[in-house]
Amino acid sequence: AAAEVSVRDLTVLYRTDQGELPAVSNAGIDLPSGTITGLVGESGSGKSTLALSLMNAIPTPGRISSGSIQVNGVGDVTKLEGRALRRVRGRALGYVFQASQNSLNPLKTVGKQLMDLGRAHDVQDMRGLVRRAKELADEMGMDGARVLDSYQHELSGGMRQRVGIVLALVLNARVLILDEPTTALDMLSQAAVLDIVRKVHRQEGLTTLVVTHDMGVVSEIADRLAVMYGGRIVEDGPAMDVLQRPAHPYTRALIGATARITGDTETARALPGRPPDLTTVPRVGCVFRERCPLAMDVCAETEPQLLTWAPDRRRACHAEPTTTAATGEGA
Ligand code: ATP
Ligand code: MG
Repeated sequence: AAAEVSVRDLTVLYRTDQGELPAVSNAGIDLPSGTITGLVGESGSGKSTLALSLMNAIPTPGRISSGSIQVNGVGDVTKLEGRALRRVRGRALGYVFQASQNSLNPLKTVGKQLMDLGRAHDVQDMRGLVRRAKELADEMGMDGARVLDSYQHELSGGMRQRVGIVLALVLNARVLILDEPTTALDMLSQAAVLDIVRKVHRQEGLTTLVVTHDMGVVSEIADRLAVMYGGRIVEDGPAMDVLQRPAHPYTRALIGATARITGDTETARALPGRPPDLTTVPRVGCVFRERCPLAMDVCAETEPQLLTWAPDRRRACHAEPTTTAATGEGA
């Protein structure tokens, strides 16, 4: 499928007490039209930063320092500002923020917040907006009228997450970005939210990005998978293929650490070591080398590029592309 969103050479800098440092480095990713892409990696790997970049919404003094983000029918989002940018947020790109369970205004009903949203986007037909919100709510298995009359505290975590999706899509965004949609939910609500994301994705014909640290979520919902570490995309490809034949040692370690995929808590091993932050990520060579079971001399000197090694499969690694089973001994 043609790409709905194409990210090229994206670098995002944040200000730290050691100067400006990259949270995302030269990242490239395509979101093909009509697909669900999972973006995974441990805490601090740069997932939210990449996702926020798609809306050109990096909080200052952070900034996109290079790269382009082409959105179908919109152009390069990194070039937009002011009114044009606000228009794109909501009307082209719908975003459900990390911890969005708590991002509703506790003092206003959902309906009131919907009105605020409509006004901010100069919507003339407010009745049409309400109708659309109810329709989306119905599609997601909620009583639309009741939801609009509710305050945040009257809604469960799973309901709040669904309301976040309604508000993200109510202006008819074609691209849906969900940052950790299931993280704060219990297992049953997690499964329900994933079902709903799948359903609304299909019914609305969306292109969807799901950011998560949970490989289980990816295995249940994603068509494609991109794995991030230290601000780099280290592997990507069709989700099932990557999960069955991971080709980057970090992907193998992540899968090995996930009980839900190995189906066996006994074999689920925690990933040794800790992920780097902006100040500790290696600036030369491979970002993963300090935790990598396959590290070689070259890994300390030369950064591996994200290269195609099999059809529709890319990885950034100097080691031979063996694809040993993720659940086997030794990641
Ligand atoms: P998590 O799973 O915890 O949500 P993440 O993969 O979404 O992690 P990001 O939130 O993108 O990671 O953060 C990437 C890196 O940038 C981290 O080291 C984080 O501490 C740092 N960072 C994030 N936001 C800022 C900011 N506004 N200013 C400075 N550093 C930041
Ligand atoms: Mg995040």
